[in-house]
Amino acid sequence: MKLVTYRKHPADSGHLGAIVGDLVVDLEELGMITGDALPGDMLDFIDLGPQAVEQTAAILEDLDGAFPLGTARPLANVTLLAPIPRTRKNVFGIGLNYVEHVNESAKSLDTSIELPKQPVVFSKPPTTIIADGDPIRHDGALTQQLDWEVELAAIIGTRARHVSEDEAMRHVFGYSVMVDVSARDNRRAGQWIVSKGMDSYAPFGPCIVTADEIPDPHNLELWLTKNGEEKQRSNTKNMLFKIPTLISDISAGITLEPGDVIATGTPEGVGAGRDPQEWMWPGDLIRCGVEGIGTLTNPVVRAG
Ligand code: MG
Repeated sequence: MKLVTYRKHPADSGHLGAIVGDLVVDLEELGMITGDALPGDMLDFIDLGPQAVEQTAAILEDLDGAFPLGTARPLANVTLLAPIPRTRKNVFGIGLNYVEHVNESAKSLDTSIELPKQPVVFSKPPTTIIADGDPIRHDGALTQQLDWEVELAAIIGTRARHVSEDEAMRHVFGYSVMVDVSARDNRRAGQWIVSKGMDSYAPFGPCIVTADEIPDPHNLELWLTKNGEEKQRSNTKNMLFKIPTLISDISAGITLEPGDVIATGTPEGVGAGRDPQEWMWPGDLIRCGVEGIGTLTNPVVRAG
């Protein structure tokens, strides 16, 4: 399933929907009619566990497009929010997780040319998250080096504490797209939370594709354009530490909970690694995507 959080009206706080063709099916409304208790919120749905995914997919399949009156709306007529508009804890980011990006970073930033021996984990507060279409804030008083990083995001489905690599993938609910926006001139003694943690620095969405529909998350094209010009294109097969390693490593000491998000790192082609270096400025339009999931389009807007 492709799951979204969407607004029915401009002021509402978001409802759980499934994309079927060019429609959004409201799962809570549908459940009221079919007699299945389905929640209206993405995190509540993830909390129900893998059985709820199977059950809901079966309900949608049985209906075969004949959705009860009032439960389906044209996707074009609704506003999407981020699939999880506010995560329960900080988004986990993984730095230097594609070999070519390690090389370009070592040339232009303060990182080592040596490949990391264990995942480089940092975090982004929940207030970084914005939806497809929302503006990335450019505050010229805070940064003159705002950079892009397209990433595959893995969403945790079930509580993971000290899990092995073999067990890890069972804990994945699904996948999405995230931009790890980074103000390169705000790295402070190796600490990245200000650089990567400012408001609007995590465009996220447009949907979560459940894990059953992406049997191999390590063979997906990902790409990013600025003002229509391609800046990044790679494949998740080039990740240095794959998702089972990331989950095993983080969960060794930090409990991963339903709805937690791991942004799995970016490939080469970031602005800092280009010659000459390039940054994002107000008026720019960033588009990116991951194969099989969808695309994000976010304008850069003057703020502050
Ligand atoms: Mg990143």
